[in-house]
Amino acid sequence: MKIVVCIKQVPGTQDVKVDPNTGVLLRSGIETKMNPYDLYALETARKIKERVGGLITVITMGPPAAKAIIEEAYSLGADAGLLITDRKFAGADVLATSLTLASGIKTIGDVDLILCGKQTTDGDTAQVGPAIAEYLNIPHVSWVLELLDVSEKDIIVKQDLGSHYANSSLPFPCLLTVEKDIFEPQLPSYLLKQAAKDRKIEVISLHDLDNNDETQYGLAGSPTQVEKIFEPETKADAIEFIGNSKDQAQALYSKLVQLKFVSKEDIV
Ligand SMILES: Cc1cc2nc3c(=O)[nH]c(=O)nc-3n(C[C@H](O)[C@H](O)[C@H](O)COP(=O)(O)OP(=O)(O)OC[C@H]3O[C@@H](n4cnc5c(N)ncnc54)[C@H](O)[C@@H]3O)c2cc1C
Repeated sequence: MKIVVCIKQVPGTQDVKVDPNTGVLLRSGIETKMNPYDLYALETARKIKERVGGLITVITMGPPAAKAIIEEAYSLGADAGLLITDRKFAGADVLATSLTLASGIKTIGDVDLILCGKQTTDGDTAQVGPAIAEYLNIPHVSWVLELLDVSEKDIIVKQDLGSHYANSSLPFPCLLTVEKDIFEPQLPSYLLKQAAKDRKIEVISLHDLDNNDETQYGLAGSPTQVEKIFEPETKADAIEFIGNSKDQAQALYSKLVQLKFVSKEDIV
């Protein structure tokens, strides 16, 4: 079975600055890591490979430095890695990102299963997986919580719909986005980590894609226009209650009554 896992390099810190004029995230020089949710997708791929055999290819759209997460994926059991990189991909929104990934996946050919994390920790839209499936015209299920069965023809999964669960059977080819905790990600293997540095990473760019109309990629192909990105204001009017726990509880209660969050009748 040919399995593709989509992995994204994201900032490794909360302390990300935004250019006040353009609203673009200032990514240069900051620590990066693999999107944590993608570790679950990779582990799911490994478990499926254990059951039915196959080849796991990780794919990422990003700058050349994103090779680092492909090397990390090698140390976690990926068999092959594909980086899709081109200056023309810069500034991509969900639509353009998904088209780029779908086009990249087509270059691999005859893929049975595509796995994504449920969302990223930077863009955080959770839309890229389903949008890739739409571009490839294949079925998909999001928020997969459990793998119920897998054969060479289809896969049966349990989906978390918030208030209830749904079990679905999907024929291959299909795409799943997986929830955190579907499987516990393993630690990198020391031997695989040592070997990862010498492993080949395939690199492709816009001219390698079957659809290489540059108006559909990157900023040019992104209808989402960011009007403004700003940090939330922090309010400094905090109140400190001092004294023993009884005094603090009394003062807190009086304040809540004063602010009309509770009335005296609420307390029995
Ligand atoms: C309003 C808005 C403004 C934005 N502005 C900027 C900006 O200025 N600069 C900027 O760099 N980004 C910006 N982004 C983010 C950019 O659009 C997203 O990073 C991109 O579309 C991917 O979406 P996501 O991160 O929300 O992925 P999600 O849909 O949350 O990711 C789900 C899964 O899809 C896969 N995936 C997602 N992206 C990739 C990838 N690149 N490669 C491989 N797999 C992937 C992973 O498996 C991931 O777990 C913006 C997004 C929005 C909505």
